[in-house]
Amino acid sequence: MKAPESLLSVRDLNISLGGQHLVRSVDLDIEAGQCLALVGESGSGKSLTALSLMRLLPRSAKISQQYILFEGQSLAAYSEAQWRQLRARRIAMIFQNPMTAMNPTMRVGQQIAEVLCLHAGVSRREANRQAVALLERLGIVNAAQKARQYPFEMSGGMLQRAVIAMAIACKPALLIADEPTTALDATVQAEVLVLLRELCNEQNMGLLLITHDLGVVRRMAQKVAVMYAGKLVETGAISRVFNTPAHPYTQALKQAMPSLTEQRDSLMAIPGTPPDLSKPIAGCAFAARCPQAMNVCARQQPADYLTAPEQHAKCWLWDPARTKAS
Ligand code: SF4
Repeated sequence: MKAPESLLSVRDLNISLGGQHLVRSVDLDIEAGQCLALVGESGSGKSLTALSLMRLLPRSAKISQQYILFEGQSLAAYSEAQWRQLRARRIAMIFQNPMTAMNPTMRVGQQIAEVLCLHAGVSRREANRQAVALLERLGIVNAAQKARQYPFEMSGGMLQRAVIAMAIACKPALLIADEPTTALDATVQAEVLVLLRELCNEQNMGLLLITHDLGVVRRMAQKVAVMYAGKLVETGAISRVFNTPAHPYTQALKQAMPSLTEQRDSLMAIPGTPPDLSKPIAGCAFAARCPQAMNVCARQQPADYLTAPEQHAKCWLWDPARTKAS
């Protein structure tokens, strides 16, 4: 079997906005044909991380990284013109609310065709043909007729498919999907997820799936990264992280799910609140909420420990010196 290729690698990503250090020392690796799920509570920095990979952050945001490599190229010094080329052609994004992702004054097919004309350089006639073919591919019945509709004339599920069609029109190597099914009912959600998985398999597309729904993660992803207060606190193969979560925050998330196969639209509240990110955090950001916190936790940041093959956690519980001493 062919070894998975590294499609995107980011090291030491930091983002500050409005005086708050919202994304802190994040490392990410996404492989071609695979799905990496980024999970965590609202405000944990997931969406900001995703937007940074498209360079769609607000102007006032400050971003730094040790490196960002995509398809073997460094993107660190890319100009805005180069980013524009990259977006839609090689890296595309699906946003949570399909209604706001589309222009309400343009027909749906026209919007998909526009992407093809602009970025794939095909003629208007060919773009229209491909737009209808894409909608058909996404399971839309009477695609030619639906392509002539305006966004407000479509159901949420159909519109989300149209948004996906627009995102994959140029066959991107990487698709970033930010809560792509949250606005959809359970049946349509399942169909959209199957579709995304098929695209990964058929086009060897990498998928960064951002969600707070662990049920979705388990169905879709090969790897998972758990984010808390702007940091990745646990990363690893899906089976490892789900079966034996190493970080107390991941354990709390898992306990918050009565059944991992159940459809949920929010995570159970974990007692306490995340820390104020406008102030420096001396130790572990989860310390105030952690049932296993020790004296060292609030004083010093834990390192990233290998807890099992293909599983890492930033938690003092895994410090080998502490393990030896106990
Ligand atoms: Fe809990 Fe300490 Fe681990 Fe943080 S480092 S998760 S406070 S045990």
